[in-house]
Parts: sequence; C-alpha cells; structure tokens
Amino acid sequence: MAVTRTFSIIKPDATRRNLTGAVTKMLEEAGLRVVASKRIQMSKEQAEGFYAVHKERPFFGELVEFMTSGPVVVQVLEGEDAVARNRKVMGATNPADADEGTIRKTFAESIEANSVHGSDSDENAKIEIDFFFKPEEIVG
Ligand code: ATP
Ligand code: MG
Repeated sequence: MAVTRTFSIIKPDATRRNLTGAVTKMLEEAGLRVVASKRIQMSKEQAEGFYAVHKERPFFGELVEFMTSGPVVVQVLEGEDAVARNRKVMGATNPADADEGTIRKTFAESIEANSVHGSDSDENAKIEIDFFFKPEEIVG
C-alpha cells in the first residue's frame, strides 16, 4: 500500500485538557508520522472556510465557535494509507459510537467536542494541508 498524507487537527477540547501529547502518541502508535505540526488560534474566518462544506448544517455556527474557543494543533500525518489509517484510530464522529481504543472513545467529550479532525479523502487531505501549511513547513 502507498505511503500517503492526511491532515489532522487536535481540537480545543483536547488542547484545553493538555492532551496534545497523548493524542499524538496514539496517532504515532497507529503507524502515522507527524511530518508537520503547529499550534494555532484559528480565526473565525479560517474556521468558516475550513468547515465551509458544513455551512448549511444546523450546528455550523456552534462548530465555528467551538473550533475558535481555544488553541488547536494542526498536523500533517504520513503513513501507509494515511487517510483511512487516521480515520480508524480517530473512531466514529460521536464518541458514543466509537470503538474501544480509538482517540474519540478515549478522550472525546461529545459529538462536537470530539478531540480530533481527520481528512476524509486523499483529495480533501491535499486541500486541507494546503489550507494550513506551506510546502517548506512539511518535512517528511
Ligand atoms: P471531522 O471532519 O472533524 O474529522 P467527522 O468527519 O467525523 O469529523 P463531520 O460529519 O465531518 O464528522 O462533522 C464535522 C464536525 O462537526 C465533527 O467532528 C463534529 O465536531 C461536528 N459535528 C458533526 N455532527 C454534529 C452534530 N450533530 N452536532 C454538533 N456537532 C457536530
Ligand atoms: Mg469530516
């Protein structure tokens, strides 16, 4: 299987609880390598742009508010079949449905404050990586 990249966010509920290292450890143990990482405060405009696909959903306003409520850690992850590998270790969107041993089952507070984001396709991974990183910030 090919080595590919995906985009990850450690969300404000996790940074607030000092879980950046614990979440990253689970990503690494799942076979993903952090090839870029930075802690940022997302602006409202960035969060709205990033989640534009959800702008018609009833939770959009709350989601933007949550994603700007504290620092996040944006990361580029590399590994074999990185998108699927990351989605597997993240677990289901709603932590109540997430499998044991996943990041969301272990750490998420709610369907919204669910600790991590991960790209859902190779195509979106590229768009999301480009949204937050310059090529020279990614060192594989
Ligand atoms: P992400 O895109 O963050 O990796 P996901 O792909 O599992 O998560 P999406 O359906 O893309 O889930 O939803 C994006 C985010 O919006 C979720 O991670 C969650 O924070 C929030 N969200 C999704 N559904 C709900 C909901 N019903 N109520 C509140 N927030 C929600
Ligand atoms: Mg999604």
